[in-house]
Amino acid sequence: MTRFVESTITFPYRRSLGPMLSAFMTALTERRILGIRCGEAVLVPPMEWDPATGAALPLDLVEVGPAGTVQSWTWVPAPTEQHPVQRPFAFAFVLLDGATTPLLHAVDAGSAAAMADGMRVAPRWRGERVGRITDIACFVPGEQPELDGDDTGPAAQPVEIMDYNARITYRNPVPPSADRAVELSRQQRLVGMRCPQCERTYVGGRGYCPIDSIELGEEHEIDLAHTGTITNFVIITPVQYPGQTETEPFARVFVLIDDSDVVLAYQPTIELPVADVRVGRRVAAVWASPGEEIDAGGGMGVSLGALIGWMPTGEPDIADPDLVNRIF
Ligand SMILES: [Zn+2]
Repeated sequence: MTRFVESTITFPYRRSLGPMLSAFMTALTERRILGIRCGEAVLVPPMEWDPATGAALPLDLVEVGPAGTVQSWTWVPAPTEQHPVQRPFAFAFVLLDGATTPLLHAVDAGSAAAMADGMRVAPRWRGERVGRITDIACFVPGEQPELDGDDTGPAAQPVEIMDYNARITYRNPVPPSADRAVELSRQQRLVGMRCPQCERTYVGGRGYCPIDSIELGEEHEIDLAHTGTITNFVIITPVQYPGQTETEPFARVFVLIDDSDVVLAYQPTIELPVADVRVGRRVAAVWASPGEEIDAGGGMGVSLGALIGWMPTGEPDIADPDLVNRIF
C-alpha cells in the first residue's frame, strides 16, 4: 500500500485595491453591494474598464441587491478547506437586483435538489467583515439577508489594501525506495543507487534512473563517503512569511561527495557561519542522534532522513575552478 505525504505551500500576497475596488470592498463592510454603471449596464462586481471597448469607466457606482436571482449553478458535493462553505453547496451566477451582469458566489441551499435556475437568493453576511468578497459568507434561498455571528460593524477606514495567503497542497506518493533511504540514514549510512547502464549514482531513494528508465533496487546500492566539498552555495535572508521559523541569514550548500559524482543540493550547514561558507570548503556529514525526530521524507524533493547537515572538517580548501560547475 502506497504511503502518501501531503505538503502545503503558502505564501502571502498583498495588493492595493485602487479607487473602484476599494469602494466596493469598503461597501461590503457596510453590508452593501456596489456595481458600476457602464452605459445602460450595471456591472457587478464593478470593473474599471468597459469590457466591450476597454474604455476607462467613470467612477459611477450604484448599490445593487442585496437579493438576486440564480442564473445558473453547479453543485460542489465535497468542498475542500479552500471553498467558501464547508458543506456541500452550489457555485452560482447570481444576478443581483439592479445589476446586468451576474456575480459568481456560493449558495448554501442544503442540497442540489433545492437549487434551481431562477430561484431567489439573498446574502448571508459575516458578522465580522474586513472588506473581502468573503464578507458575504454565501447566498441563501429567499429575499432576506442574514447575518452570521455578532456584527462588528463597518470598517473604520476605507479598505485600500488586501492581504491574503495563496496556498496550494500537493499529495505525493512515497516510493518504498525513499522509505528505505531514510531507514538507512537512521543507521548513519549515506547510500546511493548506481545505474547499471549509465553508472550515474542517485541518492535519496529515487528508485530509478531517469536517463535510462531503469528501476533501481537494493542490488544497486552503494555506500557513499561521509565527506565532500562545497561546490555552490546560497545565503538566504529569511522573509518573515507565515510559517517561517528562521530569523537569521542561513546557508544552503551543494556538496560533491568524495569519490563519487553525487552532488547533494541545498544542504543545511552546521557550525559554519554564513561568512565562512565558500566554494572548495571541505565538509563532513552530521547525523541525527538515534531516536531524534527526523524528516521522514516524501514531500517536495528527496529526503536524506537522519542526515541533518554538513560541518567543516578543518581540512584545507580544494582549489579547483571547475567545482562551481558541479551543481547536479
Ligand atoms: Zn542510467
